[in-house]
Amino acid sequence: MQYIDLHTHRPAGDPEVFEIESVFYDKVASGKTPFFSAGLHPWHLQNIDLKEAELWLREQVAQDGCLAVGETGLDKAAAAPWDRQISAFQICHRVAAETGKPLIIHCVRAYGEVVQLLNRPMSPALTTPPAIFHGFNKHQQTARMLLDAGYFLSFGPALLLANSPAAGAFRTIPAAQLFLETDDHNLDIKAVYARAAEIRGWTLDQLLEQIHVNFREVFGMVPA
Ligand SMILES: [Zn+2]
Repeated sequence: MQYIDLHTHRPAGDPEVFEIESVFYDKVASGKTPFFSAGLHPWHLQNIDLKEAELWLREQVAQDGCLAVGETGLDKAAAAPWDRQISAFQICHRVAAETGKPLIIHCVRAYGEVVQLLNRPMSPALTTPPAIFHGFNKHQQTARMLLDAGYFLSFGPALLLANSPAAGAFRTIPAAQLFLETDDHNLDIKAVYARAAEIRGWTLDQLLEQIHVNFREVFGMVPA
């Protein structure tokens, strides 16, 4: 059973790992994995034309290997103006809803605002896509708010730090709502799985199976 790395900027090309490479606007995937997500990230919104960015996004999601829209979201520490961040996020949300792809969300100090935007009604023909908050490293209270609303949380290298908020939250979150990732770290996803299994008191096989179940639920497909 393959390890699933939900979100990476540095795919390893390891055949034992199913990797989703996160591709920023106007960039191309490394080619080390056939699977990617494409999105408009709040860090990369300056000096871009959002209409062109939307066209780029629609071209990306039309490709076979594009499994999700993102990362995208809101970031109170980013330089881009707030209304621009909201516009970019709404473009991604709409494209995800129209194409039935899940959203991978980058969120910094804006959980309430992101949830509010996700809840904003779109046209009646569209249903809001599943959303995964990636790189989660917040305490139980934020986790609870997102989990109760039905969102998924993806945990990364922060799990390896003793006493990180991520490690605390990961211990108790519902098994059906978790994913694992390496993000932009130069770290083997297998180390994240080993630590995650230890925190939960599960075997590695139990953890792999659970992540596969969750993946099928959200993406409607299963890795080998
Ligand atoms: Zn990322």
